[in-house]
Amino acid sequence: MERIEAVAWNVVESLEKAGYEAYLVGGCVRDKLLNRTIDDYDITTSALPEEVQAVFAHTVPTGLKHGTVTVREDDCQFEVTTFRTDGEYEDGRRPAEVKFVRSLEEDLARRDLTINAMALGRDGTLHDPFGGQFDLLAKRIKAVGDPVQRFAEDALRMLRAIRFAAQLQFEIEEETLQAISEEAFRLQQVSRERIRDEWIKMLLTHSDTAIELLWETDTLRHIFSRPTSEPEPWERAAAWTADAPPDLALRFCLVFAALDIDEPRIDKTLQGLKLPSQLKKDIRDLLALQATEPSPDWPERTWRQLFYAHGYDTVRRRCLQHAVIHEPEKLPEWSARVEARRAVQPLWQLSDLALTGQDLIEHGINEGPALGHWLKRLAQAVLQDPAHNNREALLQLVQDWQRTP
Ligand code: ATP
Ligand code: MG
Repeated sequence: MERIEAVAWNVVESLEKAGYEAYLVGGCVRDKLLNRTIDDYDITTSALPEEVQAVFAHTVPTGLKHGTVTVREDDCQFEVTTFRTDGEYEDGRRPAEVKFVRSLEEDLARRDLTINAMALGRDGTLHDPFGGQFDLLAKRIKAVGDPVQRFAEDALRMLRAIRFAAQLQFEIEEETLQAISEEAFRLQQVSRERIRDEWIKMLLTHSDTAIELLWETDTLRHIFSRPTSEPEPWERAAAWTADAPPDLALRFCLVFAALDIDEPRIDKTLQGLKLPSQLKKDIRDLLALQATEPSPDWPERTWRQLFYAHGYDTVRRRCLQHAVIHEPEKLPEWSARVEARRAVQPLWQLSDLALTGQDLIEHGINEGPALGHWLKRLAQAVLQDPAHNNREALLQLVQDWQRTP
């Protein structure tokens, strides 16, 4: 057993010793039964938040309104949430308020999917009132209770169902799938941040399964501000993204390339999805290289110039993008090629020059704009011929240039 799991059970035990019920619950139980790596251990308990706070020395009131206290034990942390039912829903958004209850069963009933609605006790008892274990065996994604009602309560659950179908390579049970198609329009009410988080997880897993299901259920239009009348672009997007390594910026650009959408539209999509700024930058950097078509015949100089001007990650993504679209069977070859070129790159930035601005000043070059000018020119010389990159040769170059400007 992993250490963190042992600590999680200690937390459960402490709650029990204080007279409450407590269980591991949700994703960690699902992943444990599937023998998958467990991200985080969530604990559900009959104790009210203030009662949880009283049991442990180190707690953080993460979401008291929703009954969640973070407990810190032995360098691990756990979300401990009071048994609850969700209160009134406001049009497919998160519940306005929650109601604490004293029974595990009621708590499990508010959860989204049968495979996520199981709890495990310290004595090894699996509490599984909705047949989650059966659905795990049958590789089936099924809503807890009436899917139409559950998706009307919180429309994000539809995307979660599709995401888990992709991650676990499960089938969505018929009634649940039908309900997604019927209730897809409710995604309009879900916040862009919640949609973004699900879409990113879908894109990083078996994205072909996810995109096919999104297409089939007509939920796609609510992720991309785009009418989705033609299947072919989405078929391409599914195939290309699934062939590519799980790199977000790369997979995003493959979707844009598959849909063949123009820059303003891409901008609108990037804004709409509220992506983190680093990811937006990575995507824009890659878009800036779209006109450059990678070729196995690129001279070494071209590699050096591109690495220097655009950075390793962007050039690598561009090459893999090319491979995925035009010659997927050569993807490993392209990976190896980029890696080999990286190993011999002489210069990534000015500071990789074998001489500094200080050296130039000592040789009588004035500080100020001229200095930057010479350094840039030296960088170009090294990119042309890496043999130049030693102190003497570089100084010699500057002296020559100064004589014949
Ligand atoms: P992962 O961490 O891989 O996303 P998870 O199932 O642990 O999967 P979390 O978002 O961490 O997902 O949620 C923990 C648990 O809370 C879920 O297993 C599920 O029981 C419940 N849950 C999460 N989101 C919802 C929701 N929108 N509606 C109902 N129950 C939910
Ligand atoms: Mg989780």
